[in-house]
Amino acid sequence: MQRLFLVAVSLLSAILLSFAARAELPVIQPAGQGTGLGPYLELLEDPEGQLTLEDIRAGAGGDQWIRPGTKVPGFGYTGSTYWARLMLPSAPANDDDFLLEISYPVLDRVMVHVLQGGERVSHFQLGDRMPYHERPIDHPNLIFPVTLAQDQPTEVYLQVTSSSSVQIPLTLWRGNDLITKTFEQGSLWALFYGALLVLGTYNLLIYMAVRERSYLYYVFYVMSMASLTAAAHGVSFRFFWPTNPGWNEIVPALSLSCMVIAPTLFTRSFLQVGNTRPRLDKALHILAVVGGLTAIGAFLLPYGIIMVITILAANVAIVVCFTTGVLRWRDGFHAARYYSIAWTFMLGGGLILALNKLGLLPRNSFTENAAQAGTLIEVLLLSFAMANRMNWERRQREEAQRQAAEVQKQLLNSQIEMNRQLDEKVRERTEALEDANEKLLTLSTTDELTQLKNRRYFDQAFRTEYQRAYREKTPVAVMMLDIDHFKQLNDTHGHQFGDICLQEVAKTIRGSVRRPPDLPARYGGEEFVVVLPNTDLNGALTVAESIRNAVSGLTVTSGNLSVRMTVSIGVASETPEDNRHGADLLLKAADKQLYRAKEEGRNRVRGSHSQVA
Ligand code: GH3
Ligand code: MG
Ligand code: MG
Repeated sequence: MQRLFLVAVSLLSAILLSFAARAELPVIQPAGQGTGLGPYLELLEDPEGQLTLEDIRAGAGGDQWIRPGTKVPGFGYTGSTYWARLMLPSAPANDDDFLLEISYPVLDRVMVHVLQGGERVSHFQLGDRMPYHERPIDHPNLIFPVTLAQDQPTEVYLQVTSSSSVQIPLTLWRGNDLITKTFEQGSLWALFYGALLVLGTYNLLIYMAVRERSYLYYVFYVMSMASLTAAAHGVSFRFFWPTNPGWNEIVPALSLSCMVIAPTLFTRSFLQVGNTRPRLDKALHILAVVGGLTAIGAFLLPYGIIMVITILAANVAIVVCFTTGVLRWRDGFHAARYYSIAWTFMLGGGLILALNKLGLLPRNSFTENAAQAGTLIEVLLLSFAMANRMNWERRQREEAQRQAAEVQKQLLNSQIEMNRQLDEKVRERTEALEDANEKLLTLSTTDELTQLKNRRYFDQAFRTEYQRAYREKTPVAVMMLDIDHFKQLNDTHGHQFGDICLQEVAKTIRGSVRRPPDLPARYGGEEFVVVLPNTDLNGALTVAESIRNAVSGLTVTSGNLSVRMTVSIGVASETPEDNRHGADLLLKAADKQLYRAKEEGRNRVRGSHSQVA
C-alpha cells in the first residue's frame, strides 16, 4: 500500500515536473552557436551527500529545488553536494548528436546521468579528481556526449561535489561548433601562454645579464600567473599530471600563493619602497610571508579552506601593490608611473570579468577574455617599465657623471688659475728678492761715502784681474793714491768737510779712468786704489799723472770755504809670473812707490816695473 502510494506520488511528480519542464525547454540554437543552459537548470543542495539518483527520481528534495535562472548558477565554497537537473528538447531534424560542456574544469566530481523515457541511457564520471583519461572527451573542460531522442525529451542529472566553489556553466554544442570554439579559444590561450613564456624567458635572460633582483621577481610573477591560469583552465592537468589528479588539490592554492609572494616582492624591489616608505615596505614584506605560509598551507589544509584564505590574501596583495604604485608615483618616483598603469590594466581586466560573471556586462569574447588581455598588457607594461627604469637610471647616472665632470673641470680651472696667480706672485717675489739681493750686493761692495767700490770688493776683484792677466800673459797695473796732508785739512776744517773732499777726489778719480775694466776703489781712510787691467807701466803712469793733475786742479768749496788738495800716487805694473803671491806683492810695490812719492815731496807720481822694484 505504502509502496503503491510512493509510486503514485513519484509518477505524479514526474508528470508534473516533465510538464513544467516541457513548458520551459531550452531552444536549441541554430548551427554555429552553442546553447547556454544555465537558466534552465534546477538545483538541489544535498548537504549530507547521501542522495542517489533513485532518491532524486523518487521525488527527494520536494520543493527545495530551485531555479536560479542565471547564466551560470553557482555557490561558494561549501561542503555540500549539488544536484542539477535539466530537460533537453527532442532532437532537431537529422541532428541528434550533441556535446554538453561544463566550462569550469576545477569541479572535483561530476556524475552525469542521461535519461530518456525514464531509462538511464548513459552515465559519466567527470571532474579533476578523476584520472584525465577516464573522460569521455579529451578536453580540458568537462564534456560528455548526448544523443537527443527524436520523439521525446532527454533528462540530464548532474551530481556535483567539489571542494572548490561550485559553478555550472553548462552549454549544449554540436560537435563541429565545439571544435571551432575550442580552436578559437585554444589559439587565444596559446597566444597568452606563449606571450607569458617569451616575457618570462626574456626577462630571465635579462636578469642573468644585469643581476637586478626585480627581473627575477618579475619572472616569478609571470610564471605564477601562467601556472594559476593553466590550473584554472584545466590545461596543466591535461598536459603535466593527467594521471595524478591529486595535484589539482594543491596547485591552484600554491600558484595563487605565488601570486601573493611574487608581486609583493617585485613591488618592493622595483619601486624601491624600502628606503622611502618603510611602513608600506613592512606591509609588503608581511604579505610575502603570508603568501609563503599559504603556499605551505596548500599542502596541509583542505582545498576549500586554504583557497578562501589565499584568495583573501591575493586581494589584499593586489590592493596594497596598486596603492604602493600610486603612492610612489606621487612621491615622484619615475618608474612608478608605468607600474601603476600596468596594474590598472590588470585590475580593469579583473573588474570586467567580475561584472561579466555577475551578469552586469554582456558575455562576449571581449568580456570573456578581458582578464587575460589585462594580465597580458600588465606584464608587457611591467616589462616595459623595467626597461624604462633602467634607461632612466642610466640617464640619471650620465647626468650625475656630467655634473661631476663639470665640477671637476671648474675645480681644475680654478686650480690652474690659482697656480697662475701663485706663479705670478713667486715671480714678483723672486724679482723683488733679486732686486734686494742686487741692492744688498751693491751695498756690501760699495763704499757708502764715495760710492766707489770698497776694499773688500777690491781685494776680490784685484785677485781675479791678476789671475786673468797671469793666464792671458797680459800686463796688469795697480796704483795707490793718498791725499797729501789730509790730517791737517781735517783738523783745520772739520771731519765733515774732510768727507766732502774725499767725495770730490773720488769723483775726480772716477772721471779719470774711462776704460770699462778699470776699477777704482776706496782702500781705506783717504787712500784709494785703481786696478788697470791690460795696462803696462807707461800707460798706468799716464793715467796716474792725469789723476794727480786733475786733483791738483780741484777746488772744493763749502760755504765761503775753498780748499785745494794734492795727491801722491804709487804705481806698479807687471805681466804676472807668480800666481800665488803676485797680487799682494804688486800691491806692496805700488804702496812702496806711494811712499817714495811722499818722500820725494808729495803731489807726484812714482812707479816701478814690478814687485821687486
Ligand atoms: P801725508 O801727506 O803724509 O799723507 O799726510 P796726512 O795728513 O794725509 O797723513 P795720514 O795719511 O797719516 O793722515 C790720514 C788722515 O786722514 C787721518 C784722518 O784725519 C784723515 N782721514 C782718514 N779717513 C778719513 C775719513 O774718512 N774722513 C775724513 N774727513 N778724514 C779722514
Ligand atoms: Mg794716509
Ligand atoms: Mg795723506
